Amino acid sequence: MAYKHYIDSNRCKGCGLCVAVCPKKVLELSEEINTKSYFPVYQARPEDCIFCATCCIMCPDMAVTITEEIEDRPKQPA
Ligand code: SF4
Ligand code: SF4
Repeated sequence: MAYKHYIDSNRCKGCGLCVAVCPKKVLELSEEINTKSYFPVYQARPEDCIFCATCCIMCPDMAVTITEEIEDRPKQPA
């Protein structure tokens, strides 16, 4: 099963809650501002993400989502 972690940078207000709760220390605040003049969070170490969804639950602005990727299945013979 493949998952995708997505951060909507322009929803993020850079509060750092998700950075603090991530058990794998995946997240960091960017040094570049977003459209709301906040420093948004980004995945600094995406390879360490275990898709636990703690960051999604914690974010008050619903800026983080995890989606399940649909894998291509081999076609059945007719
Ligand atoms: S899903 Fe879990 S491991 Fe991945 S960034 Fe969020 S809190 Fe960290
Ligand atoms: S908890 Fe949400 S608003 Fe706060 S830094 Fe993380 S993604 Fe941004």
